[in-house]
Amino acid sequence: MAISEVMPVFARTDIVFERGEGAWLVASDGRRFLDFAAGVAVNSLGHAHPYLVAALKAQADKLWHCSNLYRVAGQEKVAGRLVAHSFGDTVFFCNSGAEAMECALKIARRFHQAQGAKEKHRVITARGAFHGRTLATISAGGQEKHLEGFAPRVEGFDQVALGNLNEARAAITEETAAVVVEPVQGEGGIIPCDPQYLRGLRAMADEFGLLLIFDEVQTGMGRTGKLFAYEWSDVTPDIMALAKGLGGGFPVGACVATERAAQYMTPGSHGSTFGGNPLAMAAADAVLDVMLAPGFLDGVNAVAAKLWQRLAPIVAKYPAVFSEMRGKGLMIGLKCAKPNGEVVARLMANGLLTVAAGDNVVRLVPPLIIGDAEIDAAIAIIDRSAAELAA
Ligand SMILES: *Cc1c(COP(=O)(O)O)cnc(C)c1O
Repeated sequence: MAISEVMPVFARTDIVFERGEGAWLVASDGRRFLDFAAGVAVNSLGHAHPYLVAALKAQADKLWHCSNLYRVAGQEKVAGRLVAHSFGDTVFFCNSGAEAMECALKIARRFHQAQGAKEKHRVITARGAFHGRTLATISAGGQEKHLEGFAPRVEGFDQVALGNLNEARAAITEETAAVVVEPVQGEGGIIPCDPQYLRGLRAMADEFGLLLIFDEVQTGMGRTGKLFAYEWSDVTPDIMALAKGLGGGFPVGACVATERAAQYMTPGSHGSTFGGNPLAMAAADAVLDVMLAPGFLDGVNAVAAKLWQRLAPIVAKYPAVFSEMRGKGLMIGLKCAKPNGEVVARLMANGLLTVAAGDNVVRLVPPLIIGDAEIDAAIAIIDRSAAELAA
């Protein structure tokens, strides 16, 4: 057999990382990289954060797993904190972003169907969206490259152009249950939604009795400079999916909902074997300790402002390489004038890790703990790489 033992579903770069220190990663051959990929926006507090390491070690000595047959103290604590700092009233814990979205979609269907509206199951989603790789979430995302070979689609998703309220309204039928949007589209190419658009979706959802779901798997947990990206608008959703940054690198997802939306999620209606186990909750609780400390998010906004200010002239200086900079906070997209894969590879050759995204974008999603030294280093590498690519 020629197939690799690790199922070859990723086109992996030929490098192995051995350890990390803050925003830096060290490869097995000793090379050091500045990590502005952060495990695709997961290592929200960088690598080997001493406080997170201590919290996980302490929990590892006590209890890893006990199932959801029993109360889990860590879940009660983390849910309480997420509720206290969001629009939500209740939280379901799972292990990934896709599962958090599955829970959101199930809550939306059940909300209507438990009230007798058995026909309501359709969900309006945005073109270019990414909600995960399960059958339901690839159908929600609607991208051909993710659906290829996996027919039939999970039925019930209607895609509309991101930012177009008229299209969204026109897609509503008697069968529509909910509308989903990423406040900043991530995998699609770092495309921020106008607050006015989010407000319009909220009004539309209210007018037609739909539930509004925000997929904050990538935008949540301080990434945009607020704990949740929706806080930049005056809009709150009924349901929100979280994952990526929530565990700082430990796999954990959460679906946050209002009491009204989740009122029919009764015992037996949903579940997860691993979701919210004590190790995951220790990680999430430690992440929240750091992010909710006074001044932390102010620091993220200050460092993001500096990075934006330093990046803008470089983007302008190399029109043959970059055509646009967009995003919010430390979720930055550089739209490329060259193939984004070439830009990512050149940045990596010069010591900076970034991630490609849709629409020919290079994503900068550094750990939220970066400071002046990391900004200086990143800017120097981007400047040099762009000069080389432009030559
Ligand atoms: C990454 C991502 C997901 C999927 O998360 P997984 O943990 O890979 O399942 C869903 N939605 C958004 C917006 C994401 O960025």
